[in-house]
Amino acid sequence: MNSPLSAEPTAASSPRGGVAKIAQIAAWVMLVVSALVLLGWWLDVPALTRVLTGSTRMKAITATTFIANAVALLGCVRRERIGIACVLLNLLVLVFGAASLLEYTANVDLGIDHLFADPEAFAQGNPPGRMSQMTAIAFLLLGTQGLLVSLQRAPRLAHLLAGLLLSLGAFTLTMAGYSYRMGVVQVLPVSAPTALLLIVATLGWLVLQRPMGIMRVAYADSPGTVLLRWAAIPALLMPPLLAIAIRAAEHLLGWSHAEVVAAVGYLSGVGACSMVIGMAWLLHHLDHQRQKSERFQDAAYTDALTRLVNRRGFDEAIDRLLRGHRESDHGFTMLMLDLDHFKRFNDDFGHLAGDRALQITGELLRAAVRPQDIAARFGGEEFAVILPGTDMLGARRTAQRLLDAFHAREWPNRPVTVSIGIANSHPGDTSATLIARADAALYAAKSGGRDRACENQVITVSSVL
Ligand code: GH3
Ligand code: MG
Ligand code: MG
Repeated sequence: MNSPLSAEPTAASSPRGGVAKIAQIAAWVMLVVSALVLLGWWLDVPALTRVLTGSTRMKAITATTFIANAVALLGCVRRERIGIACVLLNLLVLVFGAASLLEYTANVDLGIDHLFADPEAFAQGNPPGRMSQMTAIAFLLLGTQGLLVSLQRAPRLAHLLAGLLLSLGAFTLTMAGYSYRMGVVQVLPVSAPTALLLIVATLGWLVLQRPMGIMRVAYADSPGTVLLRWAAIPALLMPPLLAIAIRAAEHLLGWSHAEVVAAVGYLSGVGACSMVIGMAWLLHHLDHQRQKSERFQDAAYTDALTRLVNRRGFDEAIDRLLRGHRESDHGFTMLMLDLDHFKRFNDDFGHLAGDRALQITGELLRAAVRPQDIAARFGGEEFAVILPGTDMLGARRTAQRLLDAFHAREWPNRPVTVSIGIANSHPGDTSATLIARADAALYAAKSGGRDRACENQVITVSSVL
């Protein structure tokens, strides 16, 4: 049995190569940043505990929780027999989040955040060392996401949590950037590194999940995938980056508030336009590719000189129709045509004049057949017409129509005539036997004096009776 915690290769425990690498990178980023933050607290180097001057520092308890989450992520990636440890570490993340929330709501002190006191937080009236409510909620969601992925349970819920966490991360990061701009105390008490690690952790767990919904697009091989892979992360990070750019413009360039608002409007417009242009280019490229492949498909089945179906198309069509005749008794007839004394025509007027005569033959055939009929260049100066659902009588009429059309046409050098052999299909036919009968009929037309149609009919038992 494949229990959720077993080491059997499963979606979560045997991730695809590239995906495993992303999850590993995410885990190591979390480990390194959190270790640096703890070191900052240990050595009392505030710069290590924050990314942007003036922003809230990442708490030691937050860094510790991220480390637990990162180790769980690494365990899940490495497919080792630590399924239980994975689950326990995620539970720890969840418990740290829940306990901190409890401390806020029930006004109790569980003592989980007493390792390093944070004088800044104390000065702002916040409990020293305690992670913010927002961070606590985020860990509650992150622990649950990790738990679900480790246990391979409720994939929809896990995806939903990932979506919530990503938007929470992007939102808090933007607010952190905005606070940085204002040069005042954080609007939200979540530090920029915490928000960044939250996004990194969520993505790390997300890639380990069995793809569903929009994530399927991320792993597919389509233009949508290219767009998602290249545009999703920049789009997620655009608001905070914009906030930081505004702050830089205000301080470094001395821009006024009005100028900043104008710049934000302009940059938002540029961002939206870039998206539209990118999508338009992608769609255009896609359509171009489709048209090219259609043209190629056309070219593969079309004779370049006469624009009729080529031999390959004819062979495929006749095989398909013979199969249809065997399976559902839908008979058809075919005409085999050969231009009369064409060698002489070439000798007298040259090959280019011969080519023109072949082109005119193509025009005559196309004009004489119904949309469902297939007029093909069989090879050289020989042509074939397949008439689905047509009996001998109908085929005879078509042949006569063609002979008349050849007579009526004004030919550039001298009139060209054609000999036609008619044959009807039989359920036991192969293309070779059917073509052989049409050829025999054509031979009869040639030896009968050319410029005429002859037929070679298979008389079935039922038609004799
Ligand atoms: P028949 O009435 O018995 O069919 O006599 P024919 O001269 O038409 O038959 P034959 O098989 O002796 O000659 C066929 C000629 O068709 C020879 C060849 O040069 C010409 N031909 C075949 N393909 C092409 C082509 O693509 N262009 C041109 N101009 N001539 C072609
Ligand atoms: Mg010939
Ligand atoms: Mg000929």
